[in-house]
Order: sequence, then C-alpha cells, then structure tokens
Amino acid sequence: MIKKALSIILSVIMLLLCFGCNTGERVFSKTFFAMDTMMKITLYDVDEVMANQLFSICYDEILREENLFSVNIAASDISRINASKGDNVTLSQETVLIIKKAVSLSKLTDGAFDITVYPVVKLWGFYGNEYSIPESDDIIKALGFTGSKNIEFLGNSVRMPKNSGIDLGAIAKGYLGDRLKSIIKENGVESAVISLGGNITLIGDKPNGEPWSVAIKSPFSQNEFIYEFLISGDLSVVTSGAYERYFEKNGKIYHHIIDPDTGYPAESDLASVTVIGEDGAICDALSTALFVMGKEEALTFLSQREEISYVLVSNGGEITKSENLS
Ligand code: AMP
Ligand code: MG
Repeated sequence: MIKKALSIILSVIMLLLCFGCNTGERVFSKTFFAMDTMMKITLYDVDEVMANQLFSICYDEILREENLFSVNIAASDISRINASKGDNVTLSQETVLIIKKAVSLSKLTDGAFDITVYPVVKLWGFYGNEYSIPESDDIIKALGFTGSKNIEFLGNSVRMPKNSGIDLGAIAKGYLGDRLKSIIKENGVESAVISLGGNITLIGDKPNGEPWSVAIKSPFSQNEFIYEFLISGDLSVVTSGAYERYFEKNGKIYHHIIDPDTGYPAESDLASVTVIGEDGAICDALSTALFVMGKEEALTFLSQREEISYVLVSNGGEITKSENLS
C-alpha cells in the first residue's frame, strides 16, 4: 500500500534569519494559506494602517493568480486549456505572457523545465493525493502529448492537442513573488520579506541597512539548515528539491520533479537546488531545471551564465555554490 508522505510542506522551506534587525513597532507580518502552501509577508518600517492595506492588496493578488494558474480550479485559465480537447482557449494576456516566458525557459534549459509535463504529472497523481506508479506504457503514451511544440499561440488564445496540457507549478510562485514585490515597492515600502513556501523574495536591505541573512533548509532533516549566506537588494531565492513532495512505495521514493525525457521522477544526484536572482519566475524555472539536469550538466549550464547565483546540495551533502555568495 502506498504510504502517503506529506503532500505539502507547510513549514517555510527557508528561514530568514533576521538577527540584529530593528524589530521596532513598525514591523508587521501576515500569514496566508494559498496555492497549497503557507505564505508570509513581513513589511518593515511601515505604519499599521498601510501594512494592513498592503496585506489585503497582496492577498487579492495571490487569489487572483491562483484563480488564473491553478490546475485544481476548474475555471482557471490553465484548467480551461487542460480541458480544451484541442479547441482554442481565450486567456488573459498575463497567462499568455507567462506561458510564453515558460516556453522560452524550456528552450533555454533544453527541455529540462517543461510546463507541458502536465499529462505525466497527472498520471503520477501529484495533483491530488492519490499517488500511484503508472504503467510504463501509459507514461510513454503521456510523453507523446508533451513538448512546447504542442502550444500554439493565436493572439490572446492558445490551442493544444487533446490530452496535452500545462502545469505552471514550477514557475508560478516565483512569478507571484515578482508581482508582490512590485506591488509592495509601488506602495513605498523599502524593506520587506515575501516568503512563499520554498521561495523567498526580498525587498531592499534590512531596515538597519545590513544585508539579509538567508538560510537554506537541509534536504536531509526537517528542522535543520544546510547553508547560510548574506544578500541585499531586490532578489528572489528559490529552492527545488525532491523532499518537497513525494510518496513512498515498497521502500522507494517517488518525488514530484519529473524528467520530461523519461516521464519518471528525475534521478538527480542533487538533493536541492537554490537559484538567486532578480527575476523570481526565472529563478523558479531554473531551480527545477537544474535539479532535473543533475550536478554535472547543471554546472556546465551555470558556467556559461555567470549572472546566475546558485547553491547546489548533492545527495551526499556536498555544497557547490557560485563564487559571489558569502
Ligand atoms: P518546483 O517545486 O518549482 O521545482 O516545481 C515542481 C512542480 O512543477 C511539480 O510539483 C510539478 O507540478 C511541476 N513539474 C514537475 N516536473 C517539472 C518539469 N520538469 N518542468 C516543469 N514543471 C515540472
Ligand atoms: Mg521551480
């Protein structure tokens, strides 16, 4: 019998250490549960009325995006594509833009990141909690419906063949971090932390002008951290790891990050991948892709893109990081 593992990691994957912050009375936090995850926004150096207004605007934005992108909400743009059976589906311009961005990131990563992996992820049961190991024939069949070539853009609508579909799960939270960052900054807040499950988006520096200290959760132990570094500026820190969602059958772990070439959970020698950068959506897509690639291919990819900061944790616990992290 399949032993269900935790389907959602409710705890925040990275703990933002804020020792030495000025935690005077102008710091306000709010926790939300949305997109299957705990989210927390902390605003520094604001008054209470402004903080509450911003929390409300941010929550509306979170729900708005969930209602556009969720595979589990029948009326979402993405669910309408997934149920379209080859028909044209008119979408919001925002959905078209994120799909186009995802397609370009798929090309950049040679298909390691691939939002059309939907029919395969569905077979494994990762959209609910009814996990199962698919028959290999079914996986081969499902793989026949994947690939960005199956997405046809026609202005503000998209057409995909019957049985194909889209899953924005590996990019949507990074994108949401970007959106919330813009909203909070537009409202004049200069120091804030947005924590969306495993993703963190920072605004500015700590209120005392010092850099933030970010700790990456250990993939091997629930309450421990494996690496800590200092960063400042408007940056996102996004982690992908097999430990975030998985099930176990006959002593074998099956996790949620699929290798689009095989249709099986990626057999990566990496336990987690963290990507740090200005564009949270890109960081999110790349952290998933680098996990799929495995260490050697990931380092080759990264060596050609020095602008990307990263922390790779191998299955043996070895840490490989970009030189700019201290
Ligand atoms: P993340 O936690 O950002 O790495 O995203 C993982 C989620 O994205 C999974 O739960 C799936 O819904 C979806 N997914 C799985 N494998 C891939 C892949 N290779 N490319 C894009 N999305 C994926
Ligand atoms: Mg991702």
